[in-house]
Amino acid sequence: MNPGAMTNRVYNFGAGPAMLPRAVMRRAREEFLDHRGIGASVIEISHRSREFMDIIEAADTLLRELGGIPENYRNLFVHGGAQMQFSAVPMNLIARRPQRKAAYVVSGNFANMAANEAARYGEIDTSCNSAESNFDRVPEFDAHAVDAESSYIHITSNNTLYGTRWNAFPDTGDIPLVADMTSELLSREMDIDRFGLIFASLQKNLGPSGLALVIIREDLLDHAMPETPGLLNYRICADKYSLANTINTFAVYMMKLVLEWLRDEGGVEAMERRNADKAEILYEVIDGSDFYAGNAYAPHRSHMNVTFNLAENDLLDTFLREAESNGLYALKGHRKVGGARASIYNAMPVEGCRALADFMRHFERQRA
Ligand SMILES: *Cc1c(COP(=O)(O)O)cnc(C)c1O
Repeated sequence: MNPGAMTNRVYNFGAGPAMLPRAVMRRAREEFLDHRGIGASVIEISHRSREFMDIIEAADTLLRELGGIPENYRNLFVHGGAQMQFSAVPMNLIARRPQRKAAYVVSGNFANMAANEAARYGEIDTSCNSAESNFDRVPEFDAHAVDAESSYIHITSNNTLYGTRWNAFPDTGDIPLVADMTSELLSREMDIDRFGLIFASLQKNLGPSGLALVIIREDLLDHAMPETPGLLNYRICADKYSLANTINTFAVYMMKLVLEWLRDEGGVEAMERRNADKAEILYEVIDGSDFYAGNAYAPHRSHMNVTFNLAENDLLDTFLREAESNGLYALKGHRKVGGARASIYNAMPVEGCRALADFMRHFERQRA
């Protein structure tokens, strides 16, 4: 079962930075010293060179094709990961309406952080909240309960720590819906035009850490508060094609490789099916046993982050240690939730989930 024996690689279930497809890593290694015969590495060339422009344009086009991103949306690449967007979103959008109000659906830790950050810039409604059930589900959301003058409504589409996701997205009418999709973008098909803005940092499903992708409807580009830093101003980012200053060129390059891999694997539709199968392999073990207990309310379970506990909590450390010695790496749950978590983003092969399921059954037989 140990994939380390042959390949010196583990199955990495870490939540992020997370594993990338092996084919992508191999390709990056092959090209690293000499990018396409220019005699220099991709990390040594100007962000304004023709070679880099080819890379960023290819990433942009692939994103559009794979994500089904309509013409009236722009892809922006912005420094600072998802949490920088916790600031950029209110700075760019909350002044859309003079009341400077927004609603944040609090479905977990990241949603809560986003709401707290936004509260620096306006009046934030967090009444829709699932804290009471310790975020084991996404709360029921009623768009009519939101002030019609709100500048936007923010959700977290997949809750990385708790292992929940929205299955159906709320209809917010004329109020733009903003979604943090960091832990699932391009893992399932989405109707992009249901959203005013989507953001995701790269390190879960798209590439290395440090950058965020922002997909924004064009009519939302022009509402930034005047004090918004230029590098976070969506209009400036759009007009400068994300190159207002030196972008993280390596991250863009890696993302392009990940997107090419995704295309070659059959695109988002194929990935969605594969991800559902992968999640099912693990949930089946959890549901079929009294030894393991899932953390999330079953209808809201994530296909990206499978969270569970052991009925006997004091076996957790042994479970994690033995898993690791079997080549199943980084299964420890987030400290806020406890237990175990298997993050199974696009790059996790089905075999990784099978190996974990086999290990879980084996561990149960030995200890139960
Ligand atoms: C990981 C994660 C973040 C944080 O991303 P950073 O790039 O570290 O800022 C935010 N939101 C969600 C949903 C995440 O999973």
